[in-house]
Amino acid sequence: MLLLDGRICAQECKKKLKERVLADTALGFRPPGLAVIMVGDDPASAIYVRNKEKEASLLGISAQTCHLPRATTEQELLAHIHEFNAASDIDGILVQLPLPPHISASSCLLAISPDKDVDGFHPNNAGRMTLGLPGLRPCTPQGIVELLSFYHLSPAGKKAVVVGRSNIVGKPLAIMLAEPLEYANATVTLCHSKTANLAKECRSADFLFLSVGSPRMFGRDYVKEGAVVIDVGINRTKEGIVGDADRAALEDRVLAITPVPGGVGPMTIAMLLKNTVKAWEQNR
Ligand code: NDP
Repeated sequence: MLLLDGRICAQECKKKLKERVLADTALGFRPPGLAVIMVGDDPASAIYVRNKEKEASLLGISAQTCHLPRATTEQELLAHIHEFNAASDIDGILVQLPLPPHISASSCLLAISPDKDVDGFHPNNAGRMTLGLPGLRPCTPQGIVELLSFYHLSPAGKKAVVVGRSNIVGKPLAIMLAEPLEYANATVTLCHSKTANLAKECRSADFLFLSVGSPRMFGRDYVKEGAVVIDVGINRTKEGIVGDADRAALEDRVLAITPVPGGVGPMTIAMLLKNTVKAWEQNR
């Protein structure tokens, strides 16, 4: 069984990005700029934001966090977004989710300029992705395709099953896997909580992508022998962070699997940095 190590792949991606940043700043270009907006004091969000800032700085990206109090109104948050949209030294804007309930996440995400939408969540970018046009792609699906390519595991012509249809993972992943591209070209089925006979659908998969958020839900009954399993789930349990796959039960059954933590998670951050560098190269 091959363990698909997202940390190693992410390191490789970040090394290449750093070289791009160093080469162009040596030519006199200003460094890339990333603005991270966080509202409130959610401890998990605070860790994610600090990580993103640290990782960005290591690549020579100038990252600034705008930490706003929980009582911030939607209008105030939108004003910050508009300011960053207009700032010529900012290439990427990221609003850390979740937001407090009195703020509409979709209004804020819509307010981010599509050129600076490094999460790839804006409808312009989602539409461009659906049409196969260039644009900023959502980080987690992009990271998964990059991880498959790093390990030379192509789903082309194979049956891919994606479980979970969120706008940030499952839906865009299903679209990207069906693209006529080298590490895609799969025959894709998208499953969700209303799917009839989920286990049977999953067992038909040569490539199984799990993005449900249910600890160790997917054991041997759900996985075909020799399948590649990409586990996106991050579930906090008493024993620590675990994925959606029951990895211990699958180790002698699968061809390859991503660990949790250390699989898809590091790739998501690497793709955020990749989108920031891409936006910088296009907008400066
Ligand atoms: P959402 O909660 O938005 O979506 C979950 C999806 O799973 C929904 O489509 C839901 O179906 C489906 N689902 C729930 N229960 C079942 C079930 N019993 N059978 C079949 N389908 C089911 O989650 P996200 O996509 O945002 O995240 C999913 C997981 O991935 C979470 O653990 C999250 O923490 C993790 N994650 C990890 C990232 C990483 O970088 N590694 C990045 C983003 C998320 P329905 O639509 O019908 O309700």
